[in-house]
Amino acid sequence: MQIKQQLTKLKPYQPGKPIEEVKKEFNLSKVTKLASNENPFGSSNHVKEALQKEAAFLALYPDGSCANLRKKLAAFLHVNEQSLIFGNGSDEVIQILSRSLLDKDSNTIMPAPSFPQYKHNAVIEGAEIREVQLLEDGSHNLKGMLDAIDEKTKIIWLCTPNNPTGTYIKEKEFREFLSKVPRHVLVVSDEAYYEYVDAEDYPETIPLLEEHSNLIILRTFSKAYGLSSLRVGYGIGRPELLRAVEPAREPFNVNRFAQAAAAAALEDQDFIKDIVSKCKEGLEQYYRFCSENNLDYYPSQANFILIDFNRDADELFQSLLEKGYIVRSGKALGFPTSLRITIGTREQNEEIIAILKELL
Ligand SMILES: *Cc1c(COP(=O)(O)O)cnc(C)c1O
Repeated sequence: MQIKQQLTKLKPYQPGKPIEEVKKEFNLSKVTKLASNENPFGSSNHVKEALQKEAAFLALYPDGSCANLRKKLAAFLHVNEQSLIFGNGSDEVIQILSRSLLDKDSNTIMPAPSFPQYKHNAVIEGAEIREVQLLEDGSHNLKGMLDAIDEKTKIIWLCTPNNPTGTYIKEKEFREFLSKVPRHVLVVSDEAYYEYVDAEDYPETIPLLEEHSNLIILRTFSKAYGLSSLRVGYGIGRPELLRAVEPAREPFNVNRFAQAAAAAALEDQDFIKDIVSKCKEGLEQYYRFCSENNLDYYPSQANFILIDFNRDADELFQSLLEKGYIVRSGKALGFPTSLRITIGTREQNEEIIAILKELL
């Protein structure tokens, strides 16, 4: 038996510690997890009812084409139904694209630090990885990414807002970049935090598909919609591209509950408005805390903030953990003295800030 050589270089994904485990380990009755950018307000009330209805059909495979969700989402986004591909989370769309385009004779360009799944999938496919470091202000080095392109480049990954910095690519730069990327290179714009963005110069990328057949946009129901556990994300691209990668998708990749919940959640845009404004208030709490304590941070367009504490991130992470707050140490994310904290409810933010003040 011989496992692919490249797999031996990979570690399995390290998820945040489960709440129950932390409770037991530190003898805590309450544990708050703000480590994975989940929605602290849960999801829309419409979702519960939709799930109950679906429970009657457990024995049946889900609709492999996500027809109902597809119809609703296409109408919502004002795109053609054939312009959508669904995945078991947008993670799976990343995997489908990687399987479809990358091999050992190709290379792929990505920002660093950024979302780890671009690299992870590229390693499995055996492609050469070209990481381009973020600029000082946490933004993508688009010039550097363009310079890294050659005839063997198959995919360029953009993460906007970027995880873990929360920074975004401005419209003008995004457009300029796209116009300079050769047609043989697929540009993936991962917009997992799209719903949270309020920057005026953040680009609406869907209209750009008209001019750029080599663009695909990734979004998800995991973050603002609060459906992480169900796993449903999607790509928006030109029908001819999606038709071409479709064979790399598993036939029943999005389960019945996920499809029903996503369709119901989509209808409740009031919920999204409400949680987005609460998230902005939460970010303000952290901005105040940072300026009062002279801490560097990246202004965030997402539902998390990366704060530089100028000390060992793992130790700080551990101190918060022992008090019942699970956040993300920046160490594994490329920021060894920073924490990435998901914006929680006002009370959760206050509690974490109080502990951080004590620790500083
Ligand atoms: C969370 C996240 C995803 C994955 O989301 P799923 O749809 O849950 O797979 C993709 N990209 C980025 C940047 C993320 O932060």
